Amino acid sequence: MVSKTKIEKIEPILWDRWLLIKIYCEDGTIGIGEGGVHGWQRPTKTMIEVMSEYLLGKNPHLIEHHYQWLYRSSHFMGSIVQGALSAIDIALWDIKGKRLSVPIYELMGGKTRDKVRCYMHVGGSTKDELVESALQASKDGFTAVRFTPYNPTNFHMHKSYSEWADDAVQRVGAVREALGNDVDICVEIHRQMNPAESISLGKRLEQFNPFFYEDPMLPDSPAIMGDIAKQCNIPIATGERFTTIFEYQQLLEAKAAAYIRPDLCLCGGLSGSKKVSAMAEAYHVKVIPHNPLSPVSTATCIQLDACIPNFGLQEYTGESEPPKSELLKSPLELKNGYLTVPDGVGLGIEINEKSLNMPENPKVLDTPIGFDGSVQDR
Ligand SMILES: [Mg+2]
Repeated sequence: MVSKTKIEKIEPILWDRWLLIKIYCEDGTIGIGEGGVHGWQRPTKTMIEVMSEYLLGKNPHLIEHHYQWLYRSSHFMGSIVQGALSAIDIALWDIKGKRLSVPIYELMGGKTRDKVRCYMHVGGSTKDELVESALQASKDGFTAVRFTPYNPTNFHMHKSYSEWADDAVQRVGAVREALGNDVDICVEIHRQMNPAESISLGKRLEQFNPFFYEDPMLPDSPAIMGDIAKQCNIPIATGERFTTIFEYQQLLEAKAAAYIRPDLCLCGGLSGSKKVSAMAEAYHVKVIPHNPLSPVSTATCIQLDACIPNFGLQEYTGESEPPKSELLKSPLELKNGYLTVPDGVGLGIEINEKSLNMPENPKVLDTPIGFDGSVQDR
């Protein structure tokens, strides 16, 4: 029988570009989490402070109950609410694991694997730089790389569709030629095309056998994304912006994704993403968690990846450089492109307290403006 405790203090922490959370219990247990509303960390921090008024004094083990109470507390929901809820949910799972002396995956069905395959971000201004970066990732042991197939410095500036699409085809082709068939290629379009353009480019990329074609258009219309999926012979990956199981239900029902991309720090933490993963399993869809955040997010993803049967691939952006390298007492173990599933309790990580002095480095709002002065999609 586990002894009872109460939530004593909740501390949201703006750390570099990310939002972390610490939840303290009366018995000394401290849970760690992260909220992932990219660009809106400050409002999400405020939302955590608002939610704290309810959570203080409560039993930290009633994770689903607290989630439901907070989620249903207002008529209006959205990413700020879900980012705060996700951070809280992850920290409560960390507390539960620590208090029961088990990793979180033990509480969610147990391990289905010992390590998780990662894809590494690669890139470059020119085609040659991109190829060099991809080759380096391959040499480092990664068996999957992901890139955006155009010049990152003029990412949103398309003089003509023809020129832009040709550039994308050449870059993807050059990476395939350099890597051969030993490495999977993941193509990220960052919502830069309309549906017709998405289909046209997708058909031209089929020859290079990409592992996935991510967010070719804005993700808000599952039925239209479903049309793209039907017309291109490349698996579509999408869902990083979704905040609830309900959005995923519509996406899956529209057969609009071969891979879903839940961001665990946005779509309801481990509770929400475990439900989303089970829904996807019923559609034979695999899960590729979105993870552009801190090592706390990476550790959270590993806990989910470890226990779901339909894990696909894990996004990884490298954690060997400051500030990320400073956050954990022991970095997560990466070997030959795989992250090891840790044995430690809770999330399996310990925070280096000194690193939490890192000042905030908020994302600057910089919506791109096109050649004609109009606002472009980000
Ligand atoms: Mg993406």
